[in-house]
Amino acid sequence: MGLYDWVRVDIKCPHCKSEVKNLEFQTYDFGRQFNEYSIGQKQNKIVEGHCNMIAICPLCLCSIRGWLNIKECVIKDLEVFRYGVNLKEHIIIKESSKECQEDAKSVSGDEDGN
Ligand SMILES: [Zn+2]
Repeated sequence: MGLYDWVRVDIKCPHCKSEVKNLEFQTYDFGRQFNEYSIGQKQNKIVEGHCNMIAICPLCLCSIRGWLNIKECVIKDLEVFRYGVNLKEHIIIKESSKECQEDAKSVSGDEDGN
């Protein structure tokens, strides 16, 4: 894990086709300052060209990858180029064994009611 920056974009999810407002697309291609940017914003520090962006659709949990197009230091638009698997379909819930239950007890052993 490390610092990243993000851009909020309204998109139509390429997987579930839902309209998602202000979806946070993260990138490591900027200055990693934990800053928020938006489309149309001018930012001298960010790179020219295409930045690799990633987001997760909050409705179907599909991963979405896009290019952020930057020309003359202005963030022009975000173009979705690929979407990944629906993460929900890839969670495997194992039957909890006796050892798992004992591990869980020792990890959450100091609950104080919060
Ligand atoms: Zn979706």
